[in-house]
Parts: sequence; structure tokens; C-alpha cells
Amino acid sequence: METTKFLLGEKDVPKAWYNIQADLPFKIPPPLHPVTLEPITPEFLSVLFPMSLIMQEVSPERYIEIPEPVRYIYELWRPTPMIRARRLELALDTPAHIYFKYEGASPVGSHKPNTAVAQAYYNKEAGTKALTTETGAGQWGSALAMACHFFGIDLEVYMVKVSFQQKPYRRVMMENFGAKVFASPTDRTDCGRALLAKDPQSGGSLGVAISEAVEVAAKSGGLKKYSLGSVLNHVLMHQTVVGEESLKQMEMAGEYPDVVIGCVGGGSNFAGFSFPFIRENLTKGKKTRVVAVEPMACPTMTKGLYAYDYGDMAMMAPVVKMETLGHGFIPPSIHAGGLRYHGMAPLVSGLHANKYIEAVAVKQLPTFEAAKLFLSTEGMLPAPETAHAIRVAIDEALEAKKTGQKKVIAFNFSGHGFLDLGSYDVFNHGGLEDYEYPLEAIAEAEKDLPKVKNGS
Ligand SMILES: *Cc1c(COP(=O)(O)O)cnc(C)c1O
Repeated sequence: METTKFLLGEKDVPKAWYNIQADLPFKIPPPLHPVTLEPITPEFLSVLFPMSLIMQEVSPERYIEIPEPVRYIYELWRPTPMIRARRLELALDTPAHIYFKYEGASPVGSHKPNTAVAQAYYNKEAGTKALTTETGAGQWGSALAMACHFFGIDLEVYMVKVSFQQKPYRRVMMENFGAKVFASPTDRTDCGRALLAKDPQSGGSLGVAISEAVEVAAKSGGLKKYSLGSVLNHVLMHQTVVGEESLKQMEMAGEYPDVVIGCVGGGSNFAGFSFPFIRENLTKGKKTRVVAVEPMACPTMTKGLYAYDYGDMAMMAPVVKMETLGHGFIPPSIHAGGLRYHGMAPLVSGLHANKYIEAVAVKQLPTFEAAKLFLSTEGMLPAPETAHAIRVAIDEALEAKKTGQKKVIAFNFSGHGFLDLGSYDVFNHGGLEDYEYPLEAIAEAEKDLPKVKNGS
């Protein structure tokens, strides 16, 4: 009998996060101040973040030790299983081996607590009493609500309105952990009110919700700090526990992946899974292909520009060099709410622009079809975000079938879809729309990029 699940013990919870900045063969341009467009100082960032996280953001160290209280909480669900999708392989009649890392095993059902717990810990250490944040599908809000609850920190969540309406149970989950949740755009902030005046029906976007959460923290006179669930260097680094465990689990399986795959919203689950494999590529001569999957409705990597842009809609967040559709771009209301961000993590963008990783965009309907095939073979219901990675894993396996190659495919199962049943209901009843590239809206939004000296 072949093994299906590759399981590690609690002693195998990683003791350090991997900082890929130590191994990059190219430079990531510095973040800029949103008003002066000059490189930002730690003092500017310290309005929003505790100094320990700011230092991690710019650290040249290859490994950063995971504090004991963080590992102690990680042990509630880590190490997560690595599972070989043998029934899916059979259904596809492919010679490929397909593995997935199951991050749906966390208490709130996704990879997001890996950084939420770390961020709440460092904020607690710095004396922070309250945090603000945004959330798309509600996965990040749920993760941070749990983490803040564990460390006794208050939390305000600005939740993208379309998701707030489509996914009410996520709101309840956040409220169970004691968080306050608002449908963004709200009338609680200048940027929310400005947007509502223009478009009272606005379904919001991650860019807008970030602006609201940042504005509230920035104007709190130091009472509230802000926490971001993706994009930033330290967030991606916290997620590398996923890839570090995966490397050990592939070793247990006696195989090494030819291709690793992850879906990308801001880039954190993809980075957490793939960066340790990219380290092996960069330092040990491995040749694994690394593929990021995005929705065609929000095609940051396949259709965006690699340019300096604001991290948020209201132009209050730092300006970073990234692959972007323009900060004013509001994507169609696809069901993968967590993938609706106009930009991409600077580290992931840099790796793509310098050709260390690949990117693919997929349509909404084929991702749900992939999810249903996965459900019917493996019995697990993926989040619509995760379904993007599954789509491409299946496509890679079908390609292997054509060529007869015994390829090893590994993808990150970023989260389960138990609270996305409304989306599956729409799909099951034929009500799901498909989307082509929104090229006109992108061309329009890209006109608004900030004019940065030596920016590109
Ligand atoms: C938030 C989320 C994503 C997208 O965010 P990344 O930072 O790109 O990982 C993907 N999958 C799930 C399940 C999520 O909750």
C-alpha cells in the first residue's frame, strides 16, 4: 500500500521563519512615502506597526527565530498534513503524482493564522491595546480575531461589502472572537464617505477596506495599530512554516516536486509554500517550477505593470514597487474574495519580474469545476481561492498525461470552503458568471500610477 498522508510530529513545528531577502539575486526597490514619494523611514511606519515587525520587514537575516509563545499556539494545528491526492490522480488517469499541503487544518480554516498569531504576539509585546484591519472573504479577519482574542487585544475589522453580504457566517465567527466588524465602504472614515458619495452601491474592494483600516489607525493618536494579512515582507516570512514543513514531508514521501503551485491574492500563502522551495532552487541547484495562479478578473501578474503604486485606494499606504493594475482598479465581484487585490507582494512581484517564478490566470467557472472534481475524489471542499491552485494542478496533471511524464506536482491547499457554501450554491444552480480579462478598466486604472523618479 502506498502512503496517503505524510504527517510530522509537534517537535517538527519549524523553529525559525525563512527570510528570502537574504538569498535574492536582485534588489527589491525601497517603499516610498505616499505624499513625498521619498523612501519611508521606520518612524513613518511606526504609526501603524510595532518596531519589531518593522525590523523584520527590512531584516537581512536568513532565519528569524519563532518566539516560544507563537510556536505554542502554532501547535494547536501545526504541523499540517501533506496529502497525496491519489483518488484525484486516478480520476484524471495521469501518471503525475499530486500532493497538497492542507492549511485548511487551522482553527479558522486557512493559512492566515500563521501570521495573525505572530503579529498579535509582537503587538502585545509592544503594548498595543487595539488593532484595525481589512478583510476580503473574511478569512483574514477570522484569523486575526482569533489571534487578538488569545492575546487580549481589541480588533476592528473593515470587511469588503460584497463578502460581508455573501459570507455572513465569517462575520459571526469574528464576532464570536470579540471583534467589531464593519461593511466597507463605511461612513466611519473620510475615504469611505468619499467613495459612498460617488457610488452609494459600491461593493467595496480590498484596496478601499485597507484605506479605511489604515485611516482609523493613523488618526487614533497612537491608540490603535494596523495589521495587514498579506503583501508585506514580514507577513510572507511568517507563512514560510508552510513550505519548511512541506520540504520535510516531500522527503518522507521520497519525492521532490517538479512544480509547486499556489493561488495569489496578495501573495502570502503562495510565498509561504514556495519560498523554501525557491531557496533550494537558488542555493542547491534544484529546478522546481514555481507557479502563481490568479483570477482572470484580477490579473495582477499576467496583465499588470511592474511599477511603483499605492498599496491602497486612498493613497495613504506606502508606495511600493509591485505588479499592479493601478490602485483605483476595482475587480468584478468574483467569489474568490481573497484574490481581489489590485497589487501583489513586492517580493512575489520581484521574483516574477526577474523570471524566477511563473504566473497563470484562470477563469471563475473552470476553478469551480476543478473544486467540484476535487470534492468528488478527495472529499474536501476547497475555498474558491484555493480552487485556483487546484485548477492549475489538474491542468499540469492533464499535461503530464499527454506527454506521459511522471511529474510530481505539489500545491498549497490554502483553506477549506465550509463558509463559502453560498458560492457553491450559486455555481450548482448555474448562476455563476465567468470573466474575461477586464482590459479597459485596467488601462484606465493604470493611468493613475504615481510619477516616481527612477521608478521603473
Ligand atoms: C486570503 C486567502 C488567500 C489569498 O491571500 P494570499 O495572501 O495571496 O495568500 C488564498 N486562499 C485563502 C483560503 C485565503 O483565505
